[in-house]
Amino acid sequence: MKELLIATHNQGKVEEFQKMLSDLNIEIKSAADFNLSEPVETESTFTGNALLKARAACQATGLPTLADDSGLCVDALDGAPGIHTADWAETQGHGQKGRDFKMAMKRVNDDLGGIKGDETACFMAVLALVYPDGREEVFEGRMDGTLTWPMRGENGHGYDPIFVPKGYDITASEMNPDKKNAISHRAKAVAKFKKYLEQKNADAA
Ligand code: IMP
Repeated sequence: MKELLIATHNQGKVEEFQKMLSDLNIEIKSAADFNLSEPVETESTFTGNALLKARAACQATGLPTLADDSGLCVDALDGAPGIHTADWAETQGHGQKGRDFKMAMKRVNDDLGGIKGDETACFMAVLALVYPDGREEVFEGRMDGTLTWPMRGENGHGYDPIFVPKGYDITASEMNPDKKNAISHRAKAVAKFKKYLEQKNADAA
């Protein structure tokens, strides 16, 4: 594999992937390089939506494509917000740019009737790799933890200020970003993807 398209319009995610894949000797392209439109996420699982995004971008560009879908799953809310994690932060209706994560975290707190600190949750990330010839691979990562209230921390993004990773007593938002990126759901999914590529290269050698 010489080129890989990362099918996201989120520049932060592109940079995160570029950093994590920098040792692979693959040229990373982003959705912005091709002016790709964002497909509507109509599937009911992280895997379904990651595949949907990767297939659309692969078909449009003819390049091997990696797409991700991620979110927060709260056990006491039957896995919500789950695939709707980003939607809970929308301030202008689905697919619009306005996002307010303080509002989204307040909704989690309200729906739980006030977070007490023992509510278990996890962040999930699914990476889908789609090749122009139709082959598909999926890599999953998960970070377990508990919720806390009120919000704490200045780093990170999204729901980090109310999420305490398992084995820690600080929120993901209070963590050093390099530390969080080393234990995160996305890092675990990326590690599986890299292992898959290494194996493929070894098989081809
Ligand atoms: P996606 O872009 O459809 O994958 O949306 C993922 C949603 O989950 C976004 O709202 C993110 O802010 C949230 N999310 C995913 N990973 C994390 C994380 O590591 N920390 C905080 N929020 C996250």
